[in-house]
Amino acid sequence: MPDCNDVVRELFAYLDGEVTLNVRTEIAAHLEGCPECYEALDFHAELRNVIARRCQEELPPGLADRIRNCFGTLEPEPGFSPFAMPPPDLGSGSSFRL
Ligand SMILES: [Zn+2]
Repeated sequence: MPDCNDVVRELFAYLDGEVTLNVRTEIAAHLEGCPECYEALDFHAELRNVIARRCQEELPPGLADRIRNCFGTLEPEPGFSPFAMPPPDLGSGSSFRL
């Protein structure tokens, strides 16, 4: 029989259905007699539901445009290139050491 540490370690695999039937049965049996582990599992299962739901939600109308406009104003000046900057001088006289 797994103890609480085993259950916590296998919790995510259990939620993902990535444990063997044997392990699954043992964990399920442990959960029935251990409210603490059951609560931990319940919490993570609910958390996953919330995250899954959030990821499926559409952006509110207009928000995508607002994000695009916001990034539009941040566009660099024409001709600006981050690669045009000279590399930092790491030669002698610098305290930089590898
Ligand atoms: Zn337990």
